[in-house]
Amino acid sequence: SRVIDPAATPGEGRGEPAMRPERLADYDGQPRVREHLEVFIPAARERGESLDHCLLFGPPGLGKTTLAHIIANEMDAGLKVTSGPVLEKAGDLAALLTNLAPHDVLFIDEIHRLSAAVEEILYPAMEDYQIDIVIGEGPAARSIKLDLPPFTLVGATTRAGLLTSPLRDRFGITMRLDFYGLEDLARIIQRSARLLGVTVEPEGAAEIARRSRGTPRVANRLLRRVRDLAEVRADGVVTAAVAEEALTMLEVDPAGLDKLDQKLLSALIGKFEGGPVGLSNLAAAIGEEADTIEDVLEPYLIQEGYVQRTARGRCATGLAYSHMGFVRQEPGAD
Ligand code: ADP
Repeated sequence: SRVIDPAATPGEGRGEPAMRPERLADYDGQPRVREHLEVFIPAARERGESLDHCLLFGPPGLGKTTLAHIIANEMDAGLKVTSGPVLEKAGDLAALLTNLAPHDVLFIDEIHRLSAAVEEILYPAMEDYQIDIVIGEGPAARSIKLDLPPFTLVGATTRAGLLTSPLRDRFGITMRLDFYGLEDLARIIQRSARLLGVTVEPEGAAEIARRSRGTPRVANRLLRRVRDLAEVRADGVVTAAVAEEALTMLEVDPAGLDKLDQKLLSALIGKFEGGPVGLSNLAAAIGEEADTIEDVLEPYLIQEGYVQRTARGRCATGLAYSHMGFVRQEPGAD
């Protein structure tokens, strides 16, 4: 698997929770999100109400699950965690909802992947704290209404555009998470390093931050790998040189791009003359799913200015040409 995969890799669950901030004050970056929550949470608490339902959207690894934990902690409430694909039947969601305590937070990751039948249960639950369940079958079937305790639904999705509008409209608070800047990442790396008991020099943290694709999950993962090399070769201290050596070993280039990003850029340039090329053609050329390109590879490449998305397809920018060591033929030049 990719060391810079922004999604959690299998087995990573063990290392991650230790580094997960539990309070809003420890959550670095995302100033707009923090500002919102610093107002909404105390206001809801003051009124003795549950927090409005929150929709969090943004690429994987930016801290959506972490925020759900933080919201529950700051509200002194419990947290139940599930995800769209796990909730197969309406009854699965009904069981979760009827077991909530007042003001609990229910976190549904990948909420855009809920089936229509499950989603329908959510509408009255979110709006009126009620669910309708059907018992029995055929002519004897009847529907009963159950009251739920007031709760907060925190939904997470990689792209807000994937949500149906009736669902989107039922969230009172919608927050977009952005890629993190280098300073925020360096702070996150230093905080994680303290928790791991490893010393990281500022230049070492900066080197890791530069290659973390603006993503805390990647930063933490790279830190764990760099720490291994530091322990073996450098008395456990992460200097810039140790970080650079480890990251080169992991085949993450100085801009934070790996083989898969490079493959995409070289296909775009080499096979499609820099584009524009449609998503499905590009996916076929590099042997990846179109969704992987759209959700995982592209957001960072676009944000950093390597790729442009136009109405006619994807295009490589001048930066992509120079990064990959290609020279761009200007139109008309031979
Ligand atoms: P998502 O749900 O968006 O995929 P997570 O909330 O699971 O992302 O975050 C991945 C990891 O990154 C967490 O375990 C946490 O340690 C770290 N992390 C995310 N956001 C922050 C932040 N703002 N400050 C510090 N650590 C963070």
